Formats: sequence, structure tokens, C-alpha cells
Amino acid sequence: MSNYNWCHNPDCHKIATQSRVRGSGDKKVLRTVKIRSGSHWRQDSIFDFFCNQNCLMQFLKKFRQEVANIRPVKQPSETPIKVKKTKQQSYRYQYSNGQSNRVPYTSTRTTIESAE
Ligand SMILES: [Zn+2]
Repeated sequence: MSNYNWCHNPDCHKIATQSRVRGSGDKKVLRTVKIRSGSHWRQDSIFDFFCNQNCLMQFLKKFRQEVANIRPVKQPSETPIKVKKTKQQSYRYQYSNGQSNRVPYTSTRTTIESAE
């Protein structure tokens, strides 16, 4: 089993960076970036297959229809929730004539909780 992938952006080798230059003399090329696995921040991430965010986004733009076809979504999904509103005493500061006054007011906090 190989311990590396080539970047899956089909245009990775067209991006002009020093890191992609291979060959010598008049035989230089820009080459697709090799991604070594084992670098721990890449493990189990999409960046096992793409050398950076730019290449990932170029791939998604080019193959967006194929990506969407992997798992078509024909209708929305719903998650049951409970919306809770709680009132709490809070303070704001009012400044006038170089003086600050603590003014009480009631704030409302809205939280969304799972209904399950
Ligand atoms: Zn790439």
C-alpha cells in the first residue's frame, strides 16, 4: 500500500509555484503535488487528497455535480428542537459628562436545545 496520494485537483500541476517545479535544464515541469500521509494534521481529513484549500475548491467547482450525485438530497431534513427563552438581569453603561452609570436592563437569551 502506498503511503502517499497525488493531489486530486486535475489542475494542480498548472499552478505555478516553486514547490511544483521538477526536472532540470530545459526539461523542467510543474508536477502535481505529492501528499504524504502520516503527517498527523492531515490524517482522516480531506487534505489526504488535496494539497491545499485552493486545490480542494478547484476540484469541488469542477466536479460539483458529481459530488452532489454521490448523495442526492431531494427534500430537507429536520431536527426536533425546543427553543428556550430566558430572561436575565444585565447592565449596560451609559456615559455622560465623563461619568459612567451602570443602568440595569432585562436581556432575553434564546437557546436551542435538542428535543430528543
Ligand atoms: Zn494540489
